[in-house]
Amino acid sequence: MDENIILLNGYRHLVAIARDLASTLDLDILLNRIINAAVQITESEAASILLYDEAGKKLFFQAATNLETPILHGLIVPIEGSIAGWIVLNRQTVRIMDFHKDPRHFGKIEKATQFNTDSMIGVPLITKDKVVGVLEVLNKKSGYFNETDENLLSGLAAQAAVAIENSRLFQQSDMIAEFVHELRTPLASMGAATYLLSKPEITKKQREQLLQGLQTESTRLNDMATSFLDLARLESGRVQFHISKFDLLPLLEECSIFMRTRADENNIQIEVSVPEEFPPIEADRDKIKQVIMNLVSNAIKYNSKGGLVKIDAEPYKDEILIRIQDNGIGIPETAIPHLFEKFYRVKSSEEIAVGTGLGLSICKQIIQGHGGRIEVHSEAGIGTTFTVFIPRYSKIVPKPNKPIPLP
Ligand code: ADP
Repeated sequence: MDENIILLNGYRHLVAIARDLASTLDLDILLNRIINAAVQITESEAASILLYDEAGKKLFFQAATNLETPILHGLIVPIEGSIAGWIVLNRQTVRIMDFHKDPRHFGKIEKATQFNTDSMIGVPLITKDKVVGVLEVLNKKSGYFNETDENLLSGLAAQAAVAIENSRLFQQSDMIAEFVHELRTPLASMGAATYLLSKPEITKKQREQLLQGLQTESTRLNDMATSFLDLARLESGRVQFHISKFDLLPLLEECSIFMRTRADENNIQIEVSVPEEFPPIEADRDKIKQVIMNLVSNAIKYNSKGGLVKIDAEPYKDEILIRIQDNGIGIPETAIPHLFEKFYRVKSSEEIAVGTGLGLSICKQIIQGHGGRIEVHSEAGIGTTFTVFIPRYSKIVPKPNKPIPLP
């Protein structure tokens, strides 16, 4: 086909993509649309986006057409000694015909992803004079990457950079508004308590109660700030998963030992059982531990004196399943669909235990980042079971490219 016609078709395609990008502010959806469009307009085998962490002076993979999320989130590329790093530092596009001969290439990624790169184009993503990342396409399906591909990809990168910036700004302002709203209640009750404490006529008992209330609210504010930052990092994709192979039983036992003091205070038993021949799993151990601790902590908090918390696990197809079961207060059916929403707490649990309503949102983000899911079964007054499903191996499975129709 005539080079001008290819270019014209490509630009028509870019206009369609611009409309498509403007229609979402969800960063993950946006990045996936960009890489799928990049693969199509340049007819390449794969595309990826690396975002630049200016503070840490490194790049991390945020989306790729050929990699599953858990692998993706573990991949870090240094600024020095990598092609992507060179693109960021020099703010220039590169087109490479023979990838392995290029002295700038960073070999570790190919080993980790088992994807063989022959040729590539990499374009910096620049907004308001700041480099936010790099868009790369790998291996042209037939022939060689040419100037037309480079021009089309630069056009896409310009749109993508603006869309990424908009999505980040929106996400930040949305979350901050929510956080500030949630701060109002504890701050109001602290304000009221300090006002009352200044009154000379209050009794010793009232003083003690007010001080206790102040302490509880300040702990809650502290937990809220920590959890909020955790969640903001997870939601913006700035958390790296460090995948390793480990046995589950010792991890579950560690969680139970850590929680035992809290459970003992309320005379609650914790039981751990895992089949003897349990295969090791591949995941981020610390993050999975954070999820289990959160679920066990809830199972203790929302239990009754003398209650029971059972933790068990079993292999389930290509996944492993971890169950945390309690015979506590349970969750009303109408509350179940809202459980994983930020700041959501069941009304009745407000009186039972202090909480932030962020724990389950964090768990969901971590488990989804591993390509897994969490299910809940509960009956009010009987008890609750949270079941976590995690893929046993963090496999590299090519993702299908969703085609975007040509105009
Ligand atoms: P927090 O416990 O800090 O409020 P979470 O996000 O961990 O926040 O939980 C959200 C809400 O879900 C809790 O406030 C509680 O109402 C309900 N919940 C969670 N786990 C349980 C459980 N095991 N039993 C009963 N209710 C629960």
